[in-house]
Amino acid sequence: MKAQLLSIGNELLIGDTVNTNASWMASSLTHIGVSVDKVITIGDHYETMLQALKQAVHEADLVLITGGLGPTHDDLTKEVLVDLAQCGYRLDQRVLEFVREMFQRRGLPFTASNHDQALIPEKAETLFNRLGTAPGIWLPLEESIVVALPGVPIEMKHLMKEHVIPRVSAMRGVQAYEVFYLHTFGIPESELSDRVIGKVDSWLHEGLSLAYLPGGGGVTLRISSVAATPDQAKDQAQPLLNHLRQQAHAYLFSEQPKATLATSLVELLTARKRTLATAESCTGGLLSAAITDIPGSSHIFPGGMVAYANQLKEKELEVPAQLLATYGAVSAPVAMAMARSAAKRYGADIGISTTGIAGPEGGTTEKPVGTIWIGFWSEDHHFATLARLFKDRDTNRTRSVSIALDIVRREVLGMDWLPFDMKREYE
Ligand code: ATP
Ligand code: MG
Repeated sequence: MKAQLLSIGNELLIGDTVNTNASWMASSLTHIGVSVDKVITIGDHYETMLQALKQAVHEADLVLITGGLGPTHDDLTKEVLVDLAQCGYRLDQRVLEFVREMFQRRGLPFTASNHDQALIPEKAETLFNRLGTAPGIWLPLEESIVVALPGVPIEMKHLMKEHVIPRVSAMRGVQAYEVFYLHTFGIPESELSDRVIGKVDSWLHEGLSLAYLPGGGGVTLRISSVAATPDQAKDQAQPLLNHLRQQAHAYLFSEQPKATLATSLVELLTARKRTLATAESCTGGLLSAAITDIPGSSHIFPGGMVAYANQLKEKELEVPAQLLATYGAVSAPVAMAMARSAAKRYGADIGISTTGIAGPEGGTTEKPVGTIWIGFWSEDHHFATLARLFKDRDTNRTRSVSIALDIVRREVLGMDWLPFDMKREYE
């Protein structure tokens, strides 16, 4: 079953209102195995709405509209529906009574446009809305079904849960939707798909799909499986999942749906009973924040220090002045000294440090903006990794945090190779 969403309202087009309705609806439809092929946003304009709806009805089995159901002159959804269905209106007595009572209770005058809220296209069914004055509309048109819902998010959700989802599920027969996540880090999306995973077309079919979802903390592979029962949906995904696990294992850090690099690292260190301390320069505390964001991190994280100025690196972290003078603060020797000092000072098994040029100022030819050294110290290993990042300060800082977390994770797991072809110096 294919669905399209039509989001109506000028406020969506001018950027006043974020189209949260569409994402919420797309997600609930996906969960009952309905694939959303298109989301269209249009203004409160009769002709544009009519054309978009005509096309949607032609292309999709289910068309869900939100917005434009209200009583004001810019609410055109019902007008478009009756014109397309070539029918008139009927008065829904239940809605009329409900709206009239609502106004009475509030002591508000009942106007003609309030009365019109109870007018429903003749060929449609009413989806009664006890949370507002605009009812939902269920209108079979040609081969498809058009459902119009109020734009107010809480009313839309109420009608979706109460009426639309149960009806659509029933129409489709029993369907189960299972979704699996493979979270990776350390490789760009294009390389992951072209070089590491390769073609998967032969594994995919209508009920089984694969999506690459890149984000700040890596690339997530999402595998969606739709079948008649939950067990069938799980089973049919297994061969593809195994293939992906095998191909991407060097980059895979978790299969838990909500996992991040930080949650995985905290979990890993907790399981291994290891502790981690930080010494941060360019990330200014973001690394400690990422770790302490995770509940339970107190077991693995005694603390850390933000040493932004050289003076503080020297005084508080005992980075030798001569190292700072010879190599500069953004260098492998300084990063390593900071990491060692963090571990020793705060009594941790592992020390991790960041020192870099986040930008926008401060770059040189030798050390351009985006030059970040990440130091690592443990009883067995002591090294610094060079990440050559970007021009943007925010990205440089958050990316440094992700890389630092991943370096610790790989070390604890004994994976001794580098993601992103990074350069490394050892002591
Ligand atoms: P009402 O009877 O309340 O007027 P309506 O169907 O006419 O219902 P709109 O007037 O289009 O709905 O929108 C009502 C409110 O819902 C607006 O404040 C708008 O910001 C919000 N809204 C509309 N569409 C969306 C959307 N797609 N996502 C999130 N909020 C929305
Ligand atoms: Mg309105």
